[in-house]
Amino acid sequence: MHSSTHDDLVILGGTFDPIHYGHLRAVEEVRQALGVAQVMLIPAGHPPHRQSPWADARHRLVMTRIAVAHHPHFTVSSLEVEREGPSYTVDTLTALRRQRPDAVLAMVIGMDAFLRFDTWHHWQRILDLTHLIVTGRPGWPAAELPEALRQALYQRRCEDIGILRQTSAGRILFHTVTALEISATSIRSLLANHQSPRFLLPDEVLDYIDAEGLYHSP
Ligand code: ATP
Repeated sequence: MHSSTHDDLVILGGTFDPIHYGHLRAVEEVRQALGVAQVMLIPAGHPPHRQSPWADARHRLVMTRIAVAHHPHFTVSSLEVEREGPSYTVDTLTALRRQRPDAVLAMVIGMDAFLRFDTWHHWQRILDLTHLIVTGRPGWPAAELPEALRQALYQRRCEDIGILRQTSAGRILFHTVTALEISATSIRSLLANHQSPRFLLPDEVLDYIDAEGLYHSP
């Protein structure tokens, strides 16, 4: 049985290229629902699943820090940005778990990412290291799920956030959050077309993008 600690963490990894209100609101809603004090945002250094991000890792780290600078519930980890080689979530979580052996760790991923979760490096081990909070559409996505994932869900699904809080890892919970149809892709294409993405992301992040000339076409 888990007793509440201030080491408990809601975790959101991403390329954050750039970070926007879709990321921030989703993770804040999960944080409040879980009753956890801290969110850790982890910008990926070298994402194994995607093409190279547009902005380099240093810029993405700075933008993520700027986005939450005034919010004491949020921290930003440079772990993946500083690590050499591909950013594997399993390595990041292993390091976090070592620092917080008994804490509740709850990693947020969007439903779209979850549908491909069985392609992640050592995904089964990830499920032993953290809870998975899948955000997005409500309901049971069983029909679309690969068999291995369906099995994992069968063993690990939890429908009660209070029960999930009693163990430090190992459960999968679907949690509906306010749908904000914002993507980093759409922000980058607005900027490339010399249009403003204002109000899709924090003003301070947009100021940084403008000052550094990020995402503008050559
Ligand atoms: P891109 O458009 O470049 O693919 P993105 O906006 O989807 O980027 P990522 O950094 O790839 O952002 O996403 C990190 C995590 O945040 C993923 O788990 C993703 O599902 C989630 N996420 C992204 N956008 C939203 C959103 N609008 N609402 C809720 N979650 C989101």
